[in-house]
Amino acid sequence: MHQKDKTTSISWNSRGVRLERIPRLRGYKIFVQPNSTILLKIPSGWSDTKILETLGSHRDWIEKCLQKAIEIQSQFHPYMLVEGEKYLLLGEFYCLRFEPAEQKKYSIVVKGQTLVVQVPQKFWREGFSSFPHPGLKKYLMQFYNTQAERLLVPLFWKSVRTVGYGPKHLSLRNQKTLWGSCSRHRSAIQINKKLIAAPLFVSEYVMIHELAHLKFSNHGAGFWAEVEKNCPNYKQAEEWLSKNHYLFSFFENNQDLFSSYL
Ligand SMILES: [Zn+2]
Repeated sequence: MHQKDKTTSISWNSRGVRLERIPRLRGYKIFVQPNSTILLKIPSGWSDTKILETLGSHRDWIEKCLQKAIEIQSQFHPYMLVEGEKYLLLGEFYCLRFEPAEQKKYSIVVKGQTLVVQVPQKFWREGFSSFPHPGLKKYLMQFYNTQAERLLVPLFWKSVRTVGYGPKHLSLRNQKTLWGSCSRHRSAIQINKKLIAAPLFVSEYVMIHELAHLKFSNHGAGFWAEVEKNCPNYKQAEEWLSKNHYLFSFFENNQDLFSSYL
């Protein structure tokens, strides 16, 4: 595609619905985003009547999603990198703290239950700790990436030893919507780096789940039996992920969730 086709909007049910017309799209797709935006992707040439009819036929589902979006928003905390803010690492909360340090670059270290941002003397000034520093987010992300490489990679190969089979390739990625994925024909597994925020037993479950996909491509009974054999507490891990997924929002840009309010 050369560029995005016209994005317009339509009023439906006293709400605005964003429309994205895509030439040669087969069928249509409806998205309800966490910031309550409703997006409808349709082929070019649909009439307003057809659009409203389509939205109407999914009204219950859309309402349910909007309800869920409000729930997510109420639990969502816009992270500002301010002292005292709590960040999840390995399933536990660490409090952010700033301190001046004899070094040229910012770095982040763990001290007890604290994530200490070491601030080079030349940037340190009176009251540094009383302001939010959203610009330092890239250092926080670097810290999480390093922790992920250091801890998740060995955990993966330990899981391979547990199950007794493994892929040729492993990569840690920043995936938007998946905790992990498996490509059987390439013998490759991708694990979401953000899992470093979760307890290790949860990451281990995701790894064992993806490893089981090397044997079973579907989620049938054989697949779950294989997962359970290697990870008896897998239901607990799934429950943890579904209850706590919103605690991972500090990895995202705050604007992604709240763009409709800006
Ligand atoms: Zn799966």
